Amino acid sequence: MNLALALAITPSWLCLSEEPACAVDSQVQAFYYLKAKDYPKALDCFNAALTEHPDSWAILQSIGNCQMELGRYDAAIASLQKSIEVGGLQASQCVNMAAVYQRKGDAKKALNWLRLACSQDPSKAFDPNIQAAMTKLLDPANNPRGLPTTPDYLSSLSSVQKWRKADMPIKVHVRKNIQLAAFYEEYISIIKRSLDQWCAATGGALSYKFVSRPDSANVICDYTDRRELVSSDHELGIEGNTEKRIRMEDNTTAWANLVILVKDFPGAPKFRDRIFITNTCLHELGHVLGMHGHSSNNRDVMFSAAIRKGSDLLTKRDKNTIQLMYR
Ligand SMILES: [Zn+2]
Repeated sequence: MNLALALAITPSWLCLSEEPACAVDSQVQAFYYLKAKDYPKALDCFNAALTEHPDSWAILQSIGNCQMELGRYDAAIASLQKSIEVGGLQASQCVNMAAVYQRKGDAKKALNWLRLACSQDPSKAFDPNIQAAMTKLLDPANNPRGLPTTPDYLSSLSSVQKWRKADMPIKVHVRKNIQLAAFYEEYISIIKRSLDQWCAATGGALSYKFVSRPDSANVICDYTDRRELVSSDHELGIEGNTEKRIRMEDNTTAWANLVILVKDFPGAPKFRDRIFITNTCLHELGHVLGMHGHSSNNRDVMFSAAIRKGSDLLTKRDKNTIQLMYR
């Protein structure tokens, strides 16, 4: 359960079916765009509303929410802090703050804010969304042990489910999303470059080949613009999800399906940043290839949040870890 989803409450009186005329109150406009997941426009309208109502902690909270959805986590934290200064501490601000720290991959801080929310409003402790979020934040896979400076992070992983030698080359199918057909060829090349990096790091112990049909594949790669399809039970700040079938007899991976978010919302004008998408692919493929858990170093691909910028290459620690797994 994605914590942010529990927050996106649109006022019941807002039942606009079409884009509101600009004469309408900026807050009404903002909630319309928020409902459409058009966060850039929603943010502009909330900022306009703030000039009309500078002491509104609720508007500051919504600004923080939009900034979080746009990946501007530090700005979101500052807006939420301001909201608390202006309006005093409210449980909803605490839940919002927890959502931002979750996206940043900081499970401990997120948990502290959720606990604060429950102390502000005890009924929150019975909210199934909050309970699910706490379970995920307490999951050892999201609280990697081990120093971020060691040569590898094998000991930080909760468990390892390798592929059998007999499964090599792993049969990979990249499934075309007909709603997003224009991105298909580029997605194949991103998956190829990502798999090549992981396989090269094992000196060829890991290998794969592309197959044309999903029913003859043991790894299926999907892509989407629907955020709800990537809200996973084990990822904190990664907008991707991996489902796996594990053999009980030897704890090896037999089959996997990953899905990656490639657009911020359906109908968004452009696809996400390619380096960002590649990092999410590398991360989910790390899980597909056997890593259950995360690195504690936010430079690594397997850190629990996609916050690194500028590089879509495995780090030395990433390579050392997969090499140790398949040596
Ligand atoms: Zn992960």
